[in-house]
Amino acid sequence: MSFPQLGLSAEILRAVADQGYDTPTPIQLQAIPVILAGHDLMAAAQTGTGKTAGFTLPILQLLSERPVTGKRKPRVLVLTPTRELAAQVEESVKSYGCHLPLNSLAIFGGVSLVPQVRALKAGVDILVATPGRLLDHLGQRNVDLSGIEILVLDEADRMLDMGFIPDIRRIVALLPKQKQTLMFSATFSDEIRQLAAGFLDKPQRVEVASRNATADRIEQRVYHVDKARKRDLLIQLIKEHNWHQVLVFTRTKHGANALAEKLESAGIRSAAIHGNKSQGARTRALADFKSLKLNVLAATDIAARGLDIDQLPHVVNFDLPNVAEDYVHRIGRTARAGLSGSAVSLVCVDEHGLLRDIERLLKREIETVQVPGFEPDPSIRAEPIENGRRSGGHRPGGDRGNGAARKPQGRAGGAKPGAAKRQPMRSGR
Ligand code: AMP
Repeated sequence: MSFPQLGLSAEILRAVADQGYDTPTPIQLQAIPVILAGHDLMAAAQTGTGKTAGFTLPILQLLSERPVTGKRKPRVLVLTPTRELAAQVEESVKSYGCHLPLNSLAIFGGVSLVPQVRALKAGVDILVATPGRLLDHLGQRNVDLSGIEILVLDEADRMLDMGFIPDIRRIVALLPKQKQTLMFSATFSDEIRQLAAGFLDKPQRVEVASRNATADRIEQRVYHVDKARKRDLLIQLIKEHNWHQVLVFTRTKHGANALAEKLESAGIRSAAIHGNKSQGARTRALADFKSLKLNVLAATDIAARGLDIDQLPHVVNFDLPNVAEDYVHRIGRTARAGLSGSAVSLVCVDEHGLLRDIERLLKREIETVQVPGFEPDPSIRAEPIENGRRSGGHRPGGDRGNGAARKPQGRAGGAKPGAAKRQPMRSGR
């Protein structure tokens, strides 16, 4: 089925064509008719499947079919777990709605309230927000949610992980009872199902390719190397293969900074992106990375969550993640929307257990490559993995949603039990 057959208006189809999309993705094919028919929706789809257009396109269609008169109040609220995702979803809303007389606004923390208040006063149709900052605005009566017709809970599993559910309940309590609710989540866990039962009314369910199916399109390789030599190996790989857009995951914020500095001094344009960086610095780094002014972005898991980078060719796990599922999430940044991509993992002796967890989850072994001159020293013993709590602890009274590590923590390579906590430095504000 093609986009015109989905029943979208000429203005929306023009915007879709402007983006260069010719065929709807599976989530779009399934979700768009359900949303247009006015049903509540529970969709299992992760970032990279085209889910944003999957809800944005029919929402724009519904709003333009139902013009309202009187004071402009938000008619759609999209809640996201992170600032980056809020900014990206709103960017998509702007692109897909560019030929329609509808406007949108992203509100998230880390930046001044003032321009957001001004924009809210001027009138907004589609509001994309992180829960904490939205509650700040609600507390100051800067925004009236009594006109909401459609609520979207994007990456609901992440919001659950990050402890935002109480905030979301407070927000939902302020919305009209009569509305359409759409919930997107990477998985349908028991907790997500319970949550859906509270927020959704007779939802239709759609589910697309599991995480593992996405991972199958990605060329994955493991390089065994000693911890102290990972930076040199990465520099060699980047230079040898002429990689010019590489997202590199590190375990800690300190590790991201140190790596970016080292790569810079080797002549590779790099920046670090993590929760201790200002919003301005993060936005700038992402824009420079997208425009290839930077070749490497070194990121922690939470900072990278939801990053939407078109056609990202390479992902490197400089450190393996503590939670095997995060591996699939990380490498899912590449091979988006049917493209292929490569994911390279630099694995030292401390991480052998983590690698086994990942291979168990993928149900297959990842191909191993040994670069001559970088063979691991067999006399080096595994040590517990440092998780950078000292360098990365949360600020007291700072971000919302701290302390919400809900997933089982990976434990491997002799890591201390409980040492593998997710770092709750991202914020819903
Ligand atoms: P998302 O899952 O919403 O993060 O989207 C992943 C990527 O797929 C984004 O970069 C979109 O621009 C792209 N995309 C969305 N829909 C389509 C489509 N129908 N055809 C090609 N690319 C698409």
